[in-house]
Amino acid sequence: MKPVKLLVFMIDALCTLDLEQIRDLPNMGEILRRGAAVRHLEPIYPSLTYPCHVAVVTGDTAKGHGIPHNEKVSVENPRAPWYNQRADIRGDTLFDAARRAGKTTCAISWPVTGKADIDFNMPMIVPISYQGDDPYQFLAGNASQNLLDAYYWKYGRFLKGKDRNLDLFTMALAPDIIRDFGQPDLMFVKMCDLDTVRHQNGIDNDFVKAQLKKHDEEFGVLVETVRRCGDFDRTAFVILGDHGQADIRRTVNMNLLLRNHGFIETDAEDRLVDYQAYCHSASMSGWIQLKDPDDGALREKVYRFLLTLKDDPENPIGVVLTKAEAEAKYGLVGPLDFVVEGKEPTAFDATLAGVDLFTPYLKPGRYYSVASHGYLPERDETTTLFAAGAGIKPGVMIERASLIRVGPTLAALTGIELRDAEGTAIREFLDQP
Ligand SMILES: [Zn+2]
Repeated sequence: MKPVKLLVFMIDALCTLDLEQIRDLPNMGEILRRGAAVRHLEPIYPSLTYPCHVAVVTGDTAKGHGIPHNEKVSVENPRAPWYNQRADIRGDTLFDAARRAGKTTCAISWPVTGKADIDFNMPMIVPISYQGDDPYQFLAGNASQNLLDAYYWKYGRFLKGKDRNLDLFTMALAPDIIRDFGQPDLMFVKMCDLDTVRHQNGIDNDFVKAQLKKHDEEFGVLVETVRRCGDFDRTAFVILGDHGQADIRRTVNMNLLLRNHGFIETDAEDRLVDYQAYCHSASMSGWIQLKDPDDGALREKVYRFLLTLKDDPENPIGVVLTKAEAEAKYGLVGPLDFVVEGKEPTAFDATLAGVDLFTPYLKPGRYYSVASHGYLPERDETTTLFAAGAGIKPGVMIERASLIRVGPTLAALTGIELRDAEGTAIREFLDQP
């Protein structure tokens, strides 16, 4: 049998609840109806985009792969850079494994792939400051030069101006790469807009349904490109999300709460002066970091304070994990000493601005999130995965599996060896397990 080629279509914030609509869509529905699926795909902790994308390509939790958050959060620098570089990731990735096996790789708009050893690489780079209107400055050196030379002159316009849209850029490049360079052995294409639409409008509504239809059309273009210019019969098509989302019931300004209890000192303009304990937002969880992690008395005092919040029926905090618990139960290691979550879906604001400790549910609007993610894996509304084509067993439905099993499954499917993964392959998916 000829080796399987892989086309991964990642839809940010694809949810289990979307399967119902997808079943009736012409392109993704075809894959879902005839292939194998994991109905509830559990994200890693926290269920944020970058940690989860890296979990897919490493088969590991944050403790193993080293990317616990989208941003390199720090108390000193609230506008910290995002994790952009391959060098930020610890251990092996599917791209490295494919390279060792002599296979060609492609990643478009995949996070944390800057300067990665990928044949056709156009990383997702989130610039912390947008200088002027030339995104080339963020891609040069991070993307592979072959793609910049071939396509930036005609498609760079999709990244510029107020109507810029990364999905348009991604979908301009992907079919052209297959046609112009031949279908890469492993190709990862990542779409962003469903996540944005859910943040803005909530998890289940007509905007979401319209966006799913758009993603279905985009996926249809990729399938047709493989049919016309690639190796259709040898290709496994895999569609998945990185995490689900939940509608936010309440927002807690955790740093105001800490300030009110003497753990944070601010000046007249609400700027941070000093702190004993500070909260970083991981959207729907909060990381409490101690100034001096070796101060046992402080640790005990902060822990008791957080447990008091949990016991208070007026307070929305429902989960308090110590650093050791977060690491042992969820493989989360980061700049944190405790992790907190709400009783009901709660967002954590860490800005120190404003006066409201708790903001109730907000109606959908353009400029803030009404739904989000970042919570414990088992609380996720869950994302999902389905696949069909070469090497995939038809008619398999797995009820629940962790995201860290995806990388090892894709490695087994394409006959490459992913090292260091904590997850194991979902053998039931494979035609020849
Ligand atoms: Zn995401």
